[in-house]
Amino acid sequence: MPLKEKIVIVGAGLSGAVIGRELAQAGHEVEIIDSRKHIAGNCHTERDAETGVMIHIYGPHIFHTDDSEVWDYVNSFQTFMPYKNRVKTTSGEQVYSLPVNLHTINQFFGKTFRPDEARAFIDEKADKSITDPQTFEEQAMRFVGKDLYEAFFKGYTQKQWGCSPTDLPASILKRLPVRFNYDDNYFFHKYQGMPENGYTDMIGRILDHPNITVKLETQFHRSEGADAGHVFYSGPLDGYFDFELGRLAYRTLDFERFSYQGDYQGCAVMNYGDVDVPFTRITEHKHFSPWEEHAGSVCYREFSRECGPQDIPYYPVRLVEDKAQLAEYVTRAEQEASVTFVGRLGTYRYLDMDVTIREALDTARLYLARTAEGSRM
Ligand code: UDP
Repeated sequence: MPLKEKIVIVGAGLSGAVIGRELAQAGHEVEIIDSRKHIAGNCHTERDAETGVMIHIYGPHIFHTDDSEVWDYVNSFQTFMPYKNRVKTTSGEQVYSLPVNLHTINQFFGKTFRPDEARAFIDEKADKSITDPQTFEEQAMRFVGKDLYEAFFKGYTQKQWGCSPTDLPASILKRLPVRFNYDDNYFFHKYQGMPENGYTDMIGRILDHPNITVKLETQFHRSEGADAGHVFYSGPLDGYFDFELGRLAYRTLDFERFSYQGDYQGCAVMNYGDVDVPFTRITEHKHFSPWEEHAGSVCYREFSRECGPQDIPYYPVRLVEDKAQLAEYVTRAEQEASVTFVGRLGTYRYLDMDVTIREALDTARLYLARTAEGSRM
């Protein structure tokens, strides 16, 4: 066995780029292939030719983390500009602040509660007969009660996931906090920011190493992995196995783009909680780069729907009834000794960017430690 194996990485998104960089720095020759015309996967950003606004082509990506090593890592490839995600939601012809906070509660119920009063009030509304919430709906009913659930979560979630919140796991809602103060920062992580020149520029810098070659518009099939020492695969898990056990369920997104002269909505993200509004949210991209000034504006209406064979997969659905199929794919993946499945699509998990980077760093280090051990034997 040569001292340094040739590495093939499938996918030039965050997982592939970070693993590629770590291995390239350790002396491996790394080939990264991607079926798309661009690097950066669904994090891809591009400046709009007309307005100059940096567009998050596959929907908004806001970087937030508590992991200081990951924060230092991204900052070593890009200047991160201060950015706080402050999301609004339109529900029943009013605009509220998210995540549900003291302002939302006071506005919604027409009150002037102080924090303890609001806490006691919501506690009254909560359905305490639910002791161990399993579904999204149970989790919401247990923690915020029927009124807030129906205004802010039920319709949005039905649109986002295409099913009843009673069929979704509680874990999806656990991502969102409820606050009894006026803090409307969507995320509660220590570090939050936006890459000054966009994610594609950042990932381009991660990939910029003499031992890395990137081949775009190139398909991969598992039969081609044989001549590589090791394959890191960040494509869809079911796609690797030619969908032999059926397709894992994903949601895909459609974006309806429109331009506007001036400021369309005054914030980056406006959710729509009502089920009769067909889109889930409108994003106005210039607000993702508040340090830049642009007269023109570009907005995306975002529609969620079931992902077909030709669509781009976004969110793994992970319904309870699909668990057995997923488990079988995972078992097959574990049997592929010279392939490591990574990232959102490769492991079929809903991953934030910081977790993706953390896992990619750990995966690369584990591989390097193992191969170093192997070469000493
Ligand atoms: N959610 C909701 N109403 C909202 C925003 C979110 O019901 O206004 C639910 C929805 O089910 C969503 C989940 O909370 O999938 C997690 O929200 P998050 O903002 O983390 O979703 P993402 O931005 O990752 O799509």
